[in-house]
Amino acid sequence: MFLTKIPFWARIFIGLILGIGIGVYLHPDSKQISESTLSILLPWLKFPGDIFLNLLQMIMVPLVIASVALGVSSLSNMNELYKLGTKVFVYFVFTTMVAISIGVSLAILINPGSKIQTSEIAVTQNPSSLTRESEPAAKIISEIIPKNIINAMSEQQMLSLVLLGIFLGIFFLSAKNDSSEPLRKFVQSLESFCIWMVGIAMKMAPFAVFGLMAFALTQIGVSLLAGLFYYIFTVLLGLVLVLIFYMVLVKLLGKKNPFVFLKQIREVQILGFSTSSSSSVLPISLKIAKEELKIQPKIADFVLPLGATVNMDGTALYQAVATIFLSQIYNIDFTFFQLILLVFTVTGASIGTAATPGVGIVILASILYSFQIPVEGIAILFGVDRFLDMCRTSVNLSGDLTASVIMNHLWKENK
Ligand code: ASP
Repeated sequence: MFLTKIPFWARIFIGLILGIGIGVYLHPDSKQISESTLSILLPWLKFPGDIFLNLLQMIMVPLVIASVALGVSSLSNMNELYKLGTKVFVYFVFTTMVAISIGVSLAILINPGSKIQTSEIAVTQNPSSLTRESEPAAKIISEIIPKNIINAMSEQQMLSLVLLGIFLGIFFLSAKNDSSEPLRKFVQSLESFCIWMVGIAMKMAPFAVFGLMAFALTQIGVSLLAGLFYYIFTVLLGLVLVLIFYMVLVKLLGKKNPFVFLKQIREVQILGFSTSSSSSVLPISLKIAKEELKIQPKIADFVLPLGATVNMDGTALYQAVATIFLSQIYNIDFTFFQLILLVFTVTGASIGTAATPGVGIVILASILYSFQIPVEGIAILFGVDRFLDMCRTSVNLSGDLTASVIMNHLWKENK
């Protein structure tokens, strides 16, 4: 067929462009069709995207558990797991802190909060629905161990699933005998099934991207974009700088040509942009990491599921910019010590942000709360959050793939 002659990434890109075009055309502001026709049309526009996302989410839980378990079990011993685990953790915290520092510096330099008046901006969300009580850190940490595996699965609690996978992998590693073998074989076969399903879902990707983009564009408050121009500009510039930082890391620590890297991961970036969900795109990142980037399966299987939930540099940068932006609007000055505290708080918060659409702004509420910035301020940001979510998710996914390239290289070097 004619379509199959077009390279896959180009088909996704065409879906993206057509989706943006249709979304802009159908946007309520452009008054092309009535609101009632639009409300009938919207679910159908989203339809291919919903099917695509559901297919990926259907296999997300078994895939995360299986890939982490197999990744861990293919290390040669516990010492290797400890070495890889520490390296990955230190790397994740380091890049997150760099992203936050970029965000804080840009927000102070550009000072987007001084360029607008609160009265100019429409409030689009009742902030009380976003405020959440902050829980003690000890409780949050202990709850990573799921009391009930079925709950953890049904609520897609990624960190708990990764932990379950690590335990299973350690079991395979330490009890290589008749009792563990059948379970390991089952997990292996489960992983193959999930990867096979990813292949099926991928065929729909161009249509999904088209539908999701068209839908998203009809939801974005275009008139709000202008009012918040400097804020959006600060976040976008920060995200671009984080991407450049990744390219430098890929070159220096991963010993790989960063432009080739960008080319190999473009499908993941576009899918992250159109779905706003790192966890939904995770199955595709795993496929691209192993097949295109040629990352050793044990590294990809360990780093990517963990990264999808722990390593969110795009979200961290956005949370830092948004906090400083709102503090400027409310004339709250940060001392140097508070800025340092902000770096640590946002690092923790971005680790706790679930890899699904729109969660970054909810967690932002608890950051504002701890710095006594009026949480109502979030209402100002809400209208443009969908767009920024798309951009930061794309960067979050790029960060996980960058981490896997670097860990892959460092691991080979250590051998
Ligand atoms: N949507 C983001 C992700 O899935 C999380 C967020 O910042 O809201 O990576």
